[in-house]
Amino acid sequence: MDRQKHYDELIAWYKDFQLVSRISSVLQWDQRTYMPKLGMASRAEQLALIDGLAHRKLTEPAMVAKLNELAAVQAELSEDQRVNLREIKREVDRATKVPNDLVEEISRHTAKSNAAWVEAREADNFNHFAPFLARMIELRKLEAAALGFADRPYDAALDLFEPGSTEPYVRKLLEDLRQRLVPFVHKVLGAEKHDDSLILREPFPIDKQREFGLMVIGKLGFNFDEGRQDISAHPFTIGSKGDVRITTRFNERDLRQSLFAMIHEAGHALYEMGLPDEHVDTPLGQSVSLAVHESQSRFFENTLGRSLAFWTYFYPDLKAAFPTQLGGVPLLKFYEAVNIVAPSLIRVEADEVTYNLHIVLRFEIERAFMAGEVAVADLPDLWRAKVKQYLDIDAPNDADGVLQDVHWSEGLIGYFPTYTMGNLYGAQLREKIMADLGDIGVLCARGEFAPILNWMREHVHRLGKRYTANELIERATGKKPTAEPFMRYLAEKYGPLYHL
Ligand code: ZN
Repeated sequence: MDRQKHYDELIAWYKDFQLVSRISSVLQWDQRTYMPKLGMASRAEQLALIDGLAHRKLTEPAMVAKLNELAAVQAELSEDQRVNLREIKREVDRATKVPNDLVEEISRHTAKSNAAWVEAREADNFNHFAPFLARMIELRKLEAAALGFADRPYDAALDLFEPGSTEPYVRKLLEDLRQRLVPFVHKVLGAEKHDDSLILREPFPIDKQREFGLMVIGKLGFNFDEGRQDISAHPFTIGSKGDVRITTRFNERDLRQSLFAMIHEAGHALYEMGLPDEHVDTPLGQSVSLAVHESQSRFFENTLGRSLAFWTYFYPDLKAAFPTQLGGVPLLKFYEAVNIVAPSLIRVEADEVTYNLHIVLRFEIERAFMAGEVAVADLPDLWRAKVKQYLDIDAPNDADGVLQDVHWSEGLIGYFPTYTMGNLYGAQLREKIMADLGDIGVLCARGEFAPILNWMREHVHRLGKRYTANELIERATGKKPTAEPFMRYLAEKYGPLYHL
């Protein structure tokens, strides 16, 4: 076997698969931004066809055989080649290990389960959704068994979204976080509240909001030659190197929504734009995981975007854009208004402090139901008890409780923890950036964002999938991931803000 030739063929095949996936991305982007309503039926068929093509490409028997042959002699390949081989094999294994009839059943059940969830949420009736969720859990366990797992089915579920993560790893991180965060949140909630009514008095014209937001993300390093920004019902990022699409939604009464959504999605986009050119469409040129992706978006949105230094630089421009709305609002009042901590029932409306408790409770519940430690019928009560314990809120119903998120209805079990892991990873990266570059507040206040982005490029973006997410964080920061940097970040920021 000519190893180099073999390897080149494999990469060419994998790149074709990536091309098909890119076509799917553009179709999805169009569907969620500009497509007329009546295009839906045809678009669903187009996507099913394209996704089927991608799956067939990835599971072509001749290429899978070649992949396994090469994997058997991988010690003789270069380090880069081994990484690509390992990651392609992981992807192919996932696509081939689960029997086709199970894949089809999961897909059929997902459609039904999602429809039942929509009805159940509208009617505030958990019992209507319960049997569908119970079946979804069964199917996900069957899938886990087919994929194989270290110790528990939940390990396989996690690994689908955050490769290399296991339940004990995530549990240790999140339990440690919960123990420190619950008392911290209670302390903040006991402090005097900040008032945001000053910045909500006048409407903010949408074209001005858009113009200002685009200016900000441009300053952060978003390259408009390899990305664009549009409007959708739910903000998202899609695409990859060379063509990254981000979206936001506008609220005329509250400019915070679009602005921070834009910075958040720009953080995702900067990661994609920073992946190495020379490895495009191979694993070495792809983002490593959802948690690391989220570490980037939240770093830009919260750590930079909601800092006093950031607004020291941008606030004069914002005031100039909205002189009647913000003319009489001092910088500090604006800073307080973009950092209000308040317990909320709804995860997606939560601030950066309480947000993680929403995730911790979902993690605890999903790991328990995947382990068979709690019956589906008991989930509403368990949810209520945890919301009370962690956020001190009495949940009035299930629609805004256990039924609030779409994830479980779509089989996304093991996905939630990646949001909080992203926050923890981001805070840990922040400490190392400060050690290397000095106070990033000084840079932000001068509008010098390039050194920060370049640091991320070098230590995170350029590495693609070379290491697993937790290895990458450990290499970038010199320490294993923990909750401590995040708690230090909160104490540093919210201590003064809330006079704790
Ligand atoms: Zn995100």
